[in-house]
Amino acid sequence: MGRLDGSVAVVTGGASGIGRACALAIAREGASVAVADIEEHGAQSVCEEIVSAGGVAIAVSCDVRDEAQVAGLFSLATTTFGEVTSLVTSAGIVSFEQTGDCDLEDWQRVIDVNLTGTFLCVKHALASMQVAGSGSIVTIGSVSAVVAGNTDVGPGYKAAKGGVLQLTRLVAAQYGAKGIRANCLCPGPVDTGIIEAGQGSQENATTFARLAQGVPMGRAGRPDEIAAVALFLLSSESSYMTGSAVFADGGYTTV
Ligand code: NAD
Repeated sequence: MGRLDGSVAVVTGGASGIGRACALAIAREGASVAVADIEEHGAQSVCEEIVSAGGVAIAVSCDVRDEAQVAGLFSLATTTFGEVTSLVTSAGIVSFEQTGDCDLEDWQRVIDVNLTGTFLCVKHALASMQVAGSGSIVTIGSVSAVVAGNTDVGPGYKAAKGGVLQLTRLVAAQYGAKGIRANCLCPGPVDTGIIEAGQGSQENATTFARLAQGVPMGRAGRPDEIAAVALFLLSSESSYMTGSAVFADGGYTTV
């Protein structure tokens, strides 16, 4: 028996990094998974990985900034598998700049993907989860939701992740009585493609290495270590947890 047998899951940002690891782990535990990403080929390849391992998945091309596309994602997941009961919002981008040097365009781009994109996915997941009568939402926040110390990270990212945490708490408060839980999983530095995919430069790679050095455990995390926590938050093992910020950060926020 899998820990998510019978569950229908949507994972955004599922083509890469933390989202990919979550999609694979969720499928291994018996859920049917819609792997959604703006990178269609990446989503398709994760979907094939799941299916060849005996799991059930579809790949969906979706830009989380666009409400029509998000609505289409949930509609496709629902008609293919049934009402959505699990959501992981992992689509995200990062930028590195000092606040006084941040163009409005850069601020907006990061807010649009990380905060507005999360809001849209949560909104459409809630509609399906209310029909199902239960659900668990895991938003991917960051230590940046609460820590200002890693000062190379730009203002849009910090503000977006702080917003994701508070949005998650609000959803927990508003929908707890309806059987829907929402928790914000906040990773520390994790080895993924996010730096290269963002404003990829040697300088940013160095920034990441510096961030990782600040982790008490002395290393960056692995995507599967974050996925393991997401799985716990989606499963009934965390049935009395909602509105929590859950840190998987090698101790980053303790120092
Ligand atoms: P990643 O770049 O490997 O994965 C992000 C995915 O999001 C990519 O597949 C990308 O194509 C997708 N994406 C980007 N814009 C999109 C859009 N508009 N619509 C749909 N999909 C889109 O990065 P990751 O490190 O796995 O990041 C996943 C999440 O984890 C992000 O929210 C990130 O902020 C968060 N996070 C990452 C770290 C880290 O150190 N890697 C730390 C804390 C939090």
